[in-house]
Amino acid sequence: MIRENFLSLLDNNPWEKISGKIKNAGLDDVDRVLKKNKLDMDDFAILLSKAAAERISVLKKKAHQLTTQYFGKARFLYAPLYITNRCINSCVYCSFSEKNDIKRKYLNDTEIANDAEYLHNQGFRHILVVSGEDPIIMKSNYLINTIALLHKKFPSISIEVQPLTESLYRKAAAAGCDGLSLYQETYNRDVYKTVHTGGPKRNFKWRINGPERAACAGIKRINFGVLLGLADFRTDIWFAALHAAYIRKNFWRTQIGFSFPRIRPFVGSYHPDVEVKDNDMLHLILALRIMFPQASLVLSTRERPKFRDMLLSVAATNTSAGSKTNPGGYSDNSTTGQFDISDNRSPSEVIEAISAAGLYPVQKDWDIGLTG
Ligand code: SF4
Repeated sequence: MIRENFLSLLDNNPWEKISGKIKNAGLDDVDRVLKKNKLDMDDFAILLSKAAAERISVLKKKAHQLTTQYFGKARFLYAPLYITNRCINSCVYCSFSEKNDIKRKYLNDTEIANDAEYLHNQGFRHILVVSGEDPIIMKSNYLINTIALLHKKFPSISIEVQPLTESLYRKAAAAGCDGLSLYQETYNRDVYKTVHTGGPKRNFKWRINGPERAACAGIKRINFGVLLGLADFRTDIWFAALHAAYIRKNFWRTQIGFSFPRIRPFVGSYHPDVEVKDNDMLHLILALRIMFPQASLVLSTRERPKFRDMLLSVAATNTSAGSKTNPGGYSDNSTTGQFDISDNRSPSEVIEAISAAGLYPVQKDWDIGLTG
């Protein structure tokens, strides 16, 4: 049975109150927090403040030291595999919105196997299955069959699909899924309503309880995030952290991680109100590393090569490489992608860059057998 504690936690932490805590933090607060060993959510608000940005070099040093302590030099690579761009939602920031007139496609088993073969030959053993939201995923065994098919070749499979029922998460885990990426997009309920103009995704509560259903179902790794730029990003990241801390506290076997998607060009005309600069994103990543030393911090190819390389050398631990964001994209370019990518390097070029920085690129994530 699903507890609704996280929603009460959300209600007990009004957006404006948290935003005020972040805005009002001063340099003295930052210096005090940086001396502490154990941090709480009030400390995290201080670490996210503009005052903390003035101590960016101290944050960088501390984040790097913690990353090295908990992850050594290993940096983990994965690749997304889009199985469909069909979607019944109307998110104003996404090419796959059902309002956009794009060519839609589901991959059949042969097409999935072709893309999987390509990625396997590139050395990937951790794959992220991505799709738009479509009732067929709930009603048929399409997703579960896809996971089972891919699990024959890939020991580690994550999914980034619509929020599922606990029973479907269980089936997904039984078929070989060990990870979930489910971003709330924004924890600001007003903004959430404005940018999700139609479809089941308008149900804030169903989505926000998704990670908890997945954790109940035994999914081992859960990745949190917000779409940076929809609302005040500092406050949004604070809530993503609160959500992750809640899951970690209640499901101690579940590993947590964070992703940092920034809005990229797509089919549509939405322009975010809030600009998130490179330095802002660096700051968020450093603050999260200091708050959650053991969390995976995940980068996508939305970001430019040089910037990604720098983040990987300091605090990020996982990265996609050679990504295509359209279904069947590794063998066919005729369908529309979800967004434009900024890092067009091949997987081997990304691996080379990681090695050149003195880090160890790892394409095979640790086996489920080792994580319990
Ligand atoms: S963000 Fe996801 S749910 Fe929204 S339109 Fe795009 S694919 Fe559909």
